[in-house]
Amino acid sequence: MDERAPLTGEPLALDLVNTRPATPDGDRADLIGTPPQLADWLAAQADRLPAEVHERVPTAADVTALHAVRADVDAVLGALLHGTRPPAEALRGLSEAQAAAPRINELAFHDGQLRAIARRIGTPAAALAAVFAEDAVEVLSGPGAAKIKRCEAEDCVLLFLPAHPRRRWCSPTRCGNRTRVARYYQRHKPAAQDGRLSG
Ligand SMILES: [Zn+2]
Repeated sequence: MDERAPLTGEPLALDLVNTRPATPDGDRADLIGTPPQLADWLAAQADRLPAEVHERVPTAADVTALHAVRADVDAVLGALLHGTRPPAEALRGLSEAQAAAPRINELAFHDGQLRAIARRIGTPAAALAAVFAEDAVEVLSGPGAAKIKRCEAEDCVLLFLPAHPRRRWCSPTRCGNRTRVARYYQRHKPAAQDGRLSG
């Protein structure tokens, strides 16, 4: 598994926040920092996104809009994990993102038939941001919110919603094995250092 590949499969809002994993030098990467990166990431999420959102080529406006939602979700999640009050600005940001692209059921006449077509009003970038803001509200207000955890690996900041309370890692291949190997060497280091294993 490529450690630089985005972690996907958590609720959309968590996957979004997880596009900023920690780098080895303690900084944070951005896996959706450019339109092509965002295109790849949206393609990986395509099966749970409305067609209007993933069936077009993302632009810089999409990156900016999604970064804003990500920052708001990140701020609320940070407060949630610390048991503190989330910043009002972040809460307002998530409302505004949805208000910029409300979902409507359009009644359309096609091939002699009336049909309901779900779509969002607003620019394509606003529609994209609204999809993620809406998911964030659902996840953060739902029964799973209290279960959201940060990966236990020391240098990992990724978040997940465990289906089982014993889950400790964002991914067993990404952090579980790595941490087990590190602990193994930690345990055996003193013996190696005083020469007992060298003879
Ligand atoms: Zn991890």
